[in-house]
Amino acid sequence: MSVASVHLEADAYLVCLTHALSTEREEVMGLLIGEVDEKRVSRISAVIILRRSDKQADRVEISPEQLSDASTKAEQLAHQLQRPMRVLGWYHSHPHITVWPSHVDVRTQAMYQMMDTGFIGLIFSVFNEDKNTKVNRVQLTCFQSVEVTSHYGSTDYERVEVPVHIAPSTAISRACLESIIKLPRILSQEEEDAYEQTTQNSLDLITQIHNASVFTKSECHIMEVMGGPLLQSLENRLAVNSVKIAQLHKQKELLVEKLKHF
Ligand code: ZN
Repeated sequence: MSVASVHLEADAYLVCLTHALSTEREEVMGLLIGEVDEKRVSRISAVIILRRSDKQADRVEISPEQLSDASTKAEQLAHQLQRPMRVLGWYHSHPHITVWPSHVDVRTQAMYQMMDTGFIGLIFSVFNEDKNTKVNRVQLTCFQSVEVTSHYGSTDYERVEVPVHIAPSTAISRACLESIIKLPRILSQEEEDAYEQTTQNSLDLITQIHNASVFTKSECHIMEVMGGPLLQSLENRLAVNSVKIAQLHKQKELLVEKLKHF
C-alpha cells in the first residue's frame, strides 16, 4: 500500500543529517525504522547507519545482509518499545548535487517497493551552495517510484514526491542516541577497511608510509569534524538537562511546601 505522508521525528532527522554532513566526498546511506499508522502515515523514529563496503562517489547500495540485520534490529526495538517497529525505508546523501533522485535512485527505489510497496526513500542534499546567496543549504526530499509506460511501449519508472514533516521533539531517544554515537566508529572502520586493502599488496616502503599517513590523517579528520563536536554537543545537552532537572526539583519543593499549608 502506498504511503500518504512521512513523519520524521526530530531526533531521527538529527541522526540522518549528522551522517549526511560527515562527508562531502561520497554519498552515505542508512535505513529508516518506525511504524505505519492507520492513516498510512510512516512515522520514522530510529535510524540505522550503514557502513559502506565500497566507497564510490555516486553509488549507494544496500546488501541483503544489511537489510536482514536492520530487520533484526527493528524487531529488537519493537520488543523494547512494545510497538510494531519495522524497516520503513532508506536514506542517502547527495553532496554537492541537487536533492532530486537520479535515474538509478528511482530504479533502486522501485526494486525496494517490489519487496514492500510502502517502502520510502529520503534524500539529503548537503554542501549545496545557493547560487544567489552563496550560503550552504540542506534540502530534503521524500519519494517513491511508479511504473510508467514510455511512448515506445517500454516500462520505466518515475519519481513521486511524498510529503515529509519533521516532528518536533526536545529529547533524543535511546535508539537515536545509540546510532549517533556509533557514527564516528563506523566512519573510522570504513577508513580502516580502505587502508587494510592497501596492505594486502606488496608495495615499496615509501608507498606504505604514504598510505599509513593518509589513514592517520583520515582518522584525525574524523575526530576533528565528528568526534569532537559530537562530544561537545552532547556535553552541552547534558549541561542544559542538569539545569532543567535542578529547576524541576525546585518547583517540586515549592509544591510540597504549598501542600503542607492546606
Ligand atoms: Zn542518489
